[in-house]
Parts: sequence; structure tokens; C-alpha cells
Amino acid sequence: MVDPKKQVVLMKGIGVSSGIVIGKAYLLERGMPEPAHFCYLDTAEVDREVERFRAAVKESRDQMLRIKAKMEEDKRGKEHIRIIDAHLMILKDNMLINDTVKLIKGERVNAEWALTKVLEDLMEYFVKMDDPYIKERGSDIEHIVNRVMLNLSGSKHESVTDLKTPAIIVAHDVTPADTAQMDKNMVLSFLTDVGGRTSHSAITARSLEIPAVVGLEDITRRAETGDTIIVDGATGTVIINPSDSVIDVYRKRREKFESYATALFHYKDMPCETGDGKRIKLMGNMELAEELDSLLEHGAEGIGLYRTEFLYMNRKDLPSESEQIKAYKHIVKRMAPNPVIIRTLDVGADKVAAGMDGIKESNPAMGLRAIRFCLKNTAIFKTQIRAILRASAFGRIKMMFPMISGVEELRQAKSVLDEAKAELKAEALAYDEKMEIGAMIEVPSAAIIADLIVREVDFVSIGTNDLMQYSLAIDRVNEHVAYLYEPFHPAVLRVIKIVADAANKAGVSVGVCGEMAGEPAYAFILVGFGVDQLSMNATSILRVKRLIRSINFADAKKICKTITSLATATDVEGYISAKMPDLYKEEF
Ligand code: PEP
Ligand code: MG
Repeated sequence: MVDPKKQVVLMKGIGVSSGIVIGKAYLLERGMPEPAHFCYLDTAEVDREVERFRAAVKESRDQMLRIKAKMEEDKRGKEHIRIIDAHLMILKDNMLINDTVKLIKGERVNAEWALTKVLEDLMEYFVKMDDPYIKERGSDIEHIVNRVMLNLSGSKHESVTDLKTPAIIVAHDVTPADTAQMDKNMVLSFLTDVGGRTSHSAITARSLEIPAVVGLEDITRRAETGDTIIVDGATGTVIINPSDSVIDVYRKRREKFESYATALFHYKDMPCETGDGKRIKLMGNMELAEELDSLLEHGAEGIGLYRTEFLYMNRKDLPSESEQIKAYKHIVKRMAPNPVIIRTLDVGADKVAAGMDGIKESNPAMGLRAIRFCLKNTAIFKTQIRAILRASAFGRIKMMFPMISGVEELRQAKSVLDEAKAELKAEALAYDEKMEIGAMIEVPSAAIIADLIVREVDFVSIGTNDLMQYSLAIDRVNEHVAYLYEPFHPAVLRVIKIVADAANKAGVSVGVCGEMAGEPAYAFILVGFGVDQLSMNATSILRVKRLIRSINFADAKKICKTITSLATATDVEGYISAKMPDLYKEEF
């Protein structure tokens, strides 16, 4: 029962992963306050600051030792424990500690300010380094300094793995690295101040089937740990401290939602084809190996997008060739005889992986991301390509490159592939000589020249999340512009059509692996445009299959000819919703 004295708060955010949850809130505190600047301190104050700083260092060391002991108890890998040891070493480092104390005394400033200045000086040195290993040491120092700062300010830094009982996480932000660590039995849902529908944390929430609402702006100020919260991940509705009668209403809705999801299993073993016999391949998107069971249960006909960057997250070192081969082989074997499309590393923007913390960009979504990062770091790229090639000896693997912006870039990526093949040949290591190569079309420049790109590859896959981000100039993780993220926008539809037409004309397979593929209304348009493969998260597969089985390809094609001349997203939505089979009207 909810405390009647508590105020009921109704909030509306962006529902990014459907499902209804009623549970207790857990506020994840990880605020990093701006360092205050106090100067001209007197001698007693200076002594107090030095003492405060030393106490914060000691507290940080004790915390690290506790984490290390827990890791040893849980039998976590040596490499994790080595990171903690490295952090403990930094806390003993004379330069960091003595320089900070010297600065407090010399400049008569407060501890936070002195520590920030020492860190800035150290970082200047690390940022200039090209060697990713040395860069990484820089980010180790940053992490540990952040911990000391938090201890100085009395704030806490909490992790999603800290939960002792199942709860709804409330946080300012949740990163893809956090979602990758979420235990579905403990994290009932997550709610954040910031974020957008196609941010990678949102995508992982859908894959893990954790209901989530993002872009709530100030939920961290409105909810407290222990509050009862209702989350409707489909509509983005969040109710803090609801009345008992409202809880009852949502319990009934939850039952309805669950029985709807169960009823969809009726379609699981049916072929995915339109009424007039056009076959569409329905594949699964995955980030983590834990999603395989769910994808198979929902009848995925292979993997249409494996986001390999998650192999590189939540760790300090890079995955070796043999570690990657093992991971890829596992997926290929589980999916056999269906194919697995492995996308090469797409780090940058909202996904930060090992070796990247040192890169500071003012506009990371347009910066050194995905294929651009790989072509600058060819050793990392080549290791991955070798691993993918070697895993291809064990099953059907296709490989695709993300964020291709032009033919030259694609050729550069393919030349690294050729080098890797030559190396394997020389080493007498097996791989599939006929492994298909694809390009993701997610940058408008590539879409515009799709006719030139399709000549160079075996298939293309349209990444609508980024294609929309870049075509509409909307940062996909920014909640303030999320309202402009409109898949029915005529420009989005036209640009997709350019790619589908070019691929169809060249006889090259064209798929969509962005989030649009998993929504029935958008899938209807994609099929009408001639896309032959749709890849999505597990829970969308049967909804989309039901749609495809209830339409005719010839009708969809005709309808989609008309929509590219409509002027606004609202016009398109109205037109399509009227043409959708009756059973989908309720979903609009
Ligand atoms: C996309 O951009 O649509 C896509 C599938 O890739 P990601 O979401 O991983 O950027
Ligand atoms: Mg993308």
C-alpha cells in the first residue's frame, strides 16, 4: 500500500521498451558536483583541507579493497582484479597525492580545486599519447580521481549491480555499459532524465526485455528510493506514489499486455510471407549472448545485426582474437543453419569501449566513430576481422561495416579485410572464402550514392537509427529534440527508398536493421519499398510477422508509391494507418 501522505506525480517520458511494471524505486546516485573554488585560505583551513584530502584518499582505498575482496569472493576473472590493483597503485602514487597537497598549501586553495588542477595537468600529458595502452592508464587515473572527488563531496557513486532487492532504477542517465551489466531479475525497469528512443541503452533495454522510459527530464528530483512507481514502457507513462485504485488499473493492463504477447506465439512456426507469397526474412538484433535464447524462442531466422562493440565494454583491455573467435563461434553454432551478420566494431558516440576513454570530441556522433575509428586503429580492426574470418570456418557468417560514408572508405575497409585474408592464408588458417560482405547504409551520403555502393558489396543493411539521426540532424540521445525523431518524415522515407531501389535494381539483398524494422507500421512501408530482410529485437519479431502475413505485397507496393509524395509525417501516418489491416489499428 502506498503512503497516502506522499504526493502522486504523473510523468510522461519517451517509452523505449514496452511492458508494465509496478515496483519500488531505487535512486542511483552518481552525481559528480562541479568542484568549488575557495582561495586565500588561512593556515588552519589549509591544514583542514589537507586532512580532508588524505581522508578521502584513504576512504577511496578502503572502498577499492572492499570491492577487490568481493571480486575474489565471487571468483571474478584475474583481469578484473588487476584493474582494481592498478587503481590502488594510483592511490599510492606520489605525484598525484603530493602534487595535490603541495597545491593546497602553495596556492591556499580547497582540496577539490587542487585535485582538479593536478588531474588536468596529468590528462594533458595522456591525451597527447597515441598508444591506446598508455591512454588507458590516463583514464584509470580519471576514474580513481573521480572516486576521490566523490568521497570529498560526500556523494556516492552507485552501480546497477549494487541492487540487493528487485527495483526500478531511477537515474540521470544509464549508459550502454550499465545496461550490459543489468540483471533482469533485479532491474525491473529503468527511468532516466535524459535519452532518446534509439540511444543504445534504450536498444539494449528492448533486447533484454526490461521496460524503460527515458527523457523524463527531472525524475531524479521527483522520485525517492522506496517510492512505489508504475511504469508503462509502451506509452512512456510513469506514476510515482499512485493510489491503490490506479495500481489495480495497471495490474489489469499488465495482464492484458502479457496475454497479448503470449497469443503472438501462435505465429512462431509460420513462414514470414505476405498473402501473395512474398517471403521476407525476419532476423534478430543482438548485443549480448544472453539474448540468443529469447531470439530463438521468438523464431528469429538468423542474426541480422550483431553489435560486437558490447564485447569491448565494461573492461580495460581489448578482446583478443581467440576470445572473439570463441564468442562468434558460439553464436553461429546456436543459430545454425541460419546466417549471422556480424557488424564490425561501432564504438564512439554513446558507446565507449576499452581504449576509448581518452578520446574527447565536442561532437562525438559525427566524430571518430565506427568504421572511422577502425580505419585509424587498424590493429584493433584487423584483430576483429581475423576473428570473424576464422569463425566463418564454423558456420554461416556474413560481415558488415558500419557508418560507411562513401566508396573510398568502403574500399579501405575491404583492403584491411584482404590483408587479413592473406595473413590467414599464409598461416594456413581456415576461413570461408565466400563470406558475404555488406555495408550499413546509415549516413545520408552513402544512401545518396547507394547505386555506387551496391556494386562493391554482397548486401546492404539500412541502419535507420543513424540514417534518421544524420538526415534529420537530430542527436539520437538528446531528449530535447526527440519529438523531431519521426520515421514517417517524407525525407526519411525518400532516402530509404533511394537505397531500396538501387539495391533492387542491382539485384543485391537489402535489409533494415534499425529500430524502424520492428514496428509494424514502418515495416509495412519497408516491405512496400522492396526491402527483403528485417532485423529487430526478439519481442518485435512476432508482431511484425503477424503484420506481414496479413498484407499483400502488391498492395503495399502500390500504397508506398503514393506516400513519397505526401508532404508531412502526419499526412503519411494518417494515410498508412487507414491502409493498415484492421487488427493493427489498435496499435496506433
Ligand atoms: C542503426 O543506426 O540503425 C543501427 C542499426 O546501428 P546502431 O543502432 O547500433 O547505431
Ligand atoms: Mg548505427
